[in-house]
Amino acid sequence: MFAEVIIDVSIEKLDRPFTYRIPDRLSGIVCVGSRVRIPFGSGNTEKKGYVTAIRETSGFDDGKIKDITGMVEGSVSAEDRSFETASFIKDTYGGTLSQALKVVIPAGSKVKPAVIKTLVRKADTEQLKSVLAECIRKKQPARERLIRALIDNDRIPGEWISGKLGVSSQTVVSVIKQGLAVLETGTEYRKPSISEIGASGNVTLNDEQRKIVDAIGPKIEGGAHEVCLIHGVTGSGKTEVYLQLAEKTVSLGKQVIFLIPEIALTYQTLARFYAKFGDRVSVLNSNMSAGERFDQCERARHKDIDIIIGPRSALFTPFPEIGLIIMDEEHEASYKSEQTPKYHAREVAKEIAKRSGAVFVMGSATPSVETYLDASENRISLFELNERATGATLPETEIVDLRAELSSGNRSMFSRKLKARMDEAIKKGEQVMLFLNRRGFSGQISCRECGKNIMCPHCDVPMSLHTGNRLICHYCGETAEKPAVCPSCGSKYLAAIKAGTEQVEERVAKLYPGVATLRMDKDTTSRKGSYEMILSAFSSGEAQILIGTQMIVKGHDFPNVTVVGILAADLSLGVPDYRAAERTFQLIAQACGRAGRGEKKGYAVIQTYQPDNYAITSAAAQDYKAFFDEEIAFRLSAGYPPAVHMMAVQFFGTDEKLTASLAAQVCGVIKSERSLRVLGPAPAGIARIKDYYRYVLYVKDPDTDNLGKAREIIEDHLRETEMKGCFVQYDLDPVNMI
Ligand code: ADP
Ligand code: ZN
Ligand code: ZN
Repeated sequence: MFAEVIIDVSIEKLDRPFTYRIPDRLSGIVCVGSRVRIPFGSGNTEKKGYVTAIRETSGFDDGKIKDITGMVEGSVSAEDRSFETASFIKDTYGGTLSQALKVVIPAGSKVKPAVIKTLVRKADTEQLKSVLAECIRKKQPARERLIRALIDNDRIPGEWISGKLGVSSQTVVSVIKQGLAVLETGTEYRKPSISEIGASGNVTLNDEQRKIVDAIGPKIEGGAHEVCLIHGVTGSGKTEVYLQLAEKTVSLGKQVIFLIPEIALTYQTLARFYAKFGDRVSVLNSNMSAGERFDQCERARHKDIDIIIGPRSALFTPFPEIGLIIMDEEHEASYKSEQTPKYHAREVAKEIAKRSGAVFVMGSATPSVETYLDASENRISLFELNERATGATLPETEIVDLRAELSSGNRSMFSRKLKARMDEAIKKGEQVMLFLNRRGFSGQISCRECGKNIMCPHCDVPMSLHTGNRLICHYCGETAEKPAVCPSCGSKYLAAIKAGTEQVEERVAKLYPGVATLRMDKDTTSRKGSYEMILSAFSSGEAQILIGTQMIVKGHDFPNVTVVGILAADLSLGVPDYRAAERTFQLIAQACGRAGRGEKKGYAVIQTYQPDNYAITSAAAQDYKAFFDEEIAFRLSAGYPPAVHMMAVQFFGTDEKLTASLAAQVCGVIKSERSLRVLGPAPAGIARIKDYYRYVLYVKDPDTDNLGKAREIIEDHLRETEMKGCFVQYDLDPVNMI
C-alpha cells in the first residue's frame, strides 16, 4: 500500500503530495489524516507530514519509492473536516497546505491534563475582617486585596490571583500558613462564585431580543445553514441573546463555538457563560501551552464540553456536531491572522458553518462595512437592538472644535466643556475616562536642533527609550545605549517624546491633585495580568480617572462612569489606510458607549480639529447607518473593499534593488496575463524591518477567484525565477496596511 504525504514545509515548490510506501508493520495503522515521519530529499533528512490519501498502486517505479519511517508519537490526526477547512484556507489566502493544516489542527501532543488551582476560604468572615483591619494598619495592600477577595468569595480561581488581584505567590502562601484558606488543585474549570457575576440570574428577554432568539432558534434545530448579524448598540443585550441561543443549541445536543477578540478584556462575559453552563464550557487562550490546548480539543472531541470560548483559533475546535458559531465584536481586527496563511476568522467561520449545517451569528455595535453591506443587500439576515437593555439611555455627546478653543486662548489639552464636565463628575464622586486614540510609538528620542529621531539600524522606525537609558526597537528587539549627542548633528539637546497618555496623566495630576488616576496603554500593560488589574482597580473605585488608548474602549462595564473625554478624535483619521474613517468611527462610538451605563446620565465630549468629518459627526450621533451610507459611497467610488477584493502581494528581501526589481517584474507579469487592476509596486508603509526591505503591490478584483488565479500565475512565475534571498507573501483584504 502507498500513501500520499504532504510534507511540513513553507516552500510552495514542495507543496504537493509525495508518494511513500506503507511498510507492513504500519499497515492498518497509517490512515488518511495520520501524522507520519518520512525521509526526504537526497540526504533522507527526516521530516513530518500528513497523509492525504492511501492507494494500492504508486504509479511510479516502485523501486525508487521510500518507506514511511513511523508515526509521529502522540500526535493528533487530521479529520476530513480539517482537510476541507485547510484546503479552503490555502485556496483563499495562499501559503502551503501544510501551513494551513498547522492552523487548523491543534499542535502539541498528549500531556498531563492542565492543573487548575483554586484558593478556597477556610476562615469565617469575622476572622477575615480582623485580619483585614491588620493589613490596612500595616499598609499591606496586596494582602489587603487578597483578604477582601476572600471575604467576598468562597473560591478564588488561581488565574485571578496573579491576574486581576495582582497578588504574589508569597502572599498567598502566608495566607495559607495562617489557616485562612487552602489551595485546591483540580483538572477542570469551576464556576466562578456568584458575587463576582453580580447574581443577576435569569433575565426575561425584551421584545427585540425575543424576536432574535425566536427567529434563529429553529434554524439551529433544523440544521439550516444561516449567517446573521446582530447590530445592537452597546449594552443592548447582545450577550444575553448569545447565552439563550447557546442554551438552545446545547439542549439539542449540539455544540457552540463562541469567538471573542481578546480574553483579557472579556472577563465579565466569560463569567456569565460559566454561571450558566458551569463546567460544560471551556476557554482557550493564548497563554495556554500546546498541551493545555490539546486537552481542550480532546474534551471537545469527546463531548466533555458543549461550549468553547476563545480567540480566532477556537474556530478549529473539533466538536462532533457544531450547531452554532458566535463571533462577538465582529468588526475587530484581531480576527484576521497576521501570519501566513493570513486568514480572516469571519470568512473561515462562514465556510465551517456551511459545511457543518450550523448557524453563524455575528454581533457588534459598530459592524464592519463588509458585513453590513452583506446585511443590507440581504446576503445575510440582519437583526437590530436599538435600546439599552437595562433602560439606561445613551450618553449625551458634544463635539468641541479645537480650532475655536485655541483661537479663544485655551491652549490646554482639555476644552472648557470637557473640563467643566470633569469638574462636576469628580465633585460628585463619579468616574471619568479619558481616551487618546494615538497609535504608533512612544518614548522615541528626537533632537531638538535638527529634529531627527534616533532610528533602529535594522528597521525604518524610531527606537524607544526604556529604563536605564536603554533604547529598544519594538519591531526587531535591537537594543542600544542612549547616545549623549545627536548622531546626525552632534547636538546635545536630545529629548524623549512622551507617550500621549503619559502627558495626559501629568496634566490631570496638576489639575486634580489628590484625585487617584490609572493609566492603561502599551507601557502599563506589558506584564501578564496587568490589564485585569487596572480594569478591576478602576471598577472597584480605587481611582476616579482612567486614561488610556483604544484598550479602554472595550472591556468592562463601569456603571459609575458618567464622563468620557475623547481628546483628539481625528488622530486616527490621518492614517494612510482606506479603513481610517471606519476605525475612527468605531473607536469614537465605542468610547462614547462607555459613558452612562448605570443609572446616572452619561456625557461624552469629543474634541476634534475636524468637527464636520462624517466619521466624527455620525459617531457623536451614534448613527451607524449615517456613517455606513457615506463610507460605502466612498469605498465604491474609490474602488476599495467591500466594493472589490484586494490582495496585497508583499515582497521581502535583504537587497533593496533586487526586492524592488522582483516586485516590478511580478507586477508586469500579472498586468500582461490578466485584466486585473494593479496598484504599485511601492515601498511598504514601513519600508524596512529586521534588515528586510519591503515592497508591496495591490491587485483588485470583485471576485476572489480571480485573485486566486493571479496568485497562481505569480507562483508559477516565481518557481522559474531566481529568488536571490527574496520571498513573497499574500494578504487578502488586509486589515493592516503597514
Ligand atoms: P451587550 O452585549 O449588547 O453589550 P449585555 O448583554 O451585556 O449587552 O447587556 C447589558 C446589560 O443589560 C447587562 O447588565 C445585562 O445583564 C442587562 N440585560 C440584558 N438583557 C436584559 C433584559 N432583557 N432585561 C434586563 N436586563 C438585561
Ligand atoms: Zn540633531
Ligand atoms: Zn529594529
